[in-house]
Amino acid sequence: MDLIEREATPLRGFDAMIDLYIDLERQRKDEDYTPPDRWSASQLGYCMRRQFLRRKGVPETAPMDTTTLRRFQLGRLVERLVRSVYWRMGYGLAEEVHLIDEDLNVSGYVDLLASSTVNHDIPQEKESEWGPEWTEWIKKIRKQAEREFAGKLGEGNVGIEIKSTSSFAFKKFNTQGPSDHHMLQVGTYALIAERFPDQFSHPVDRWELLLVSKDDVKVLRYAVNEKWKERAQFRLASLNIMWEMGDMPKCECEGWMKNYCPYKEGDMCCEVAA
Ligand code: SF4
Repeated sequence: MDLIEREATPLRGFDAMIDLYIDLERQRKDEDYTPPDRWSASQLGYCMRRQFLRRKGVPETAPMDTTTLRRFQLGRLVERLVRSVYWRMGYGLAEEVHLIDEDLNVSGYVDLLASSTVNHDIPQEKESEWGPEWTEWIKKIRKQAEREFAGKLGEGNVGIEIKSTSSFAFKKFNTQGPSDHHMLQVGTYALIAERFPDQFSHPVDRWELLLVSKDDVKVLRYAVNEKWKERAQFRLASLNIMWEMGDMPKCECEGWMKNYCPYKEGDMCCEVAA
């Protein structure tokens, strides 16, 4: 009985600690929040009205619950893992690249820019982060990566958006293809990069969405083609015209779009005047 007590107490304590941490982090973000002055690439595939409300600074009626925020924390860890493998194996070129298109009024952060060939130079900041022993080991594994993957990783440099997902959704994506709003996000990056390439430290030759299963780190990759750039441009043009005219976009409530919408509760969203 004593043994059960001793084991159970710390587990409950840590569970509560994560919840408290997530709540405090959310509180901090809420306090610092200012409505964005442009559209966000990661939101472009969502309901247009939702994007309007966010840009206008309308308070959410259904903020994310703690369980969803916990999943997001896990997702960020998975993304970090993917990025760190790219960097350590010598393919990382840049990460969290902030892109802005002032004409289209949109911005976003590109998760990773990777090369298709191994880079043996180690940036000073990475060397300081890894320390001398780790850096020596990384130099060795890069040689092995070069032998194993030479000519097998496609051409040129690739801009990558990393998304993590449950194994259930992963199976669905595997048979039905990626979701439109993920592809639209990467299409938006491709569009901005084409219009303003100087925002990158290296040229970007192609774009892809990398989907990672959170349960076993299996990966699916999808190349982003012209169609997604064109769709992103069309959607941005529509948003910009409506914003300028002060026309609230029509209600697009349906399926997942509403299920994950932070304005879904109450009847406020669809009653907000333009
Ligand atoms: S509640 Fe529906 S119409 Fe309103 S922002 Fe959300 S998805 Fe769009």
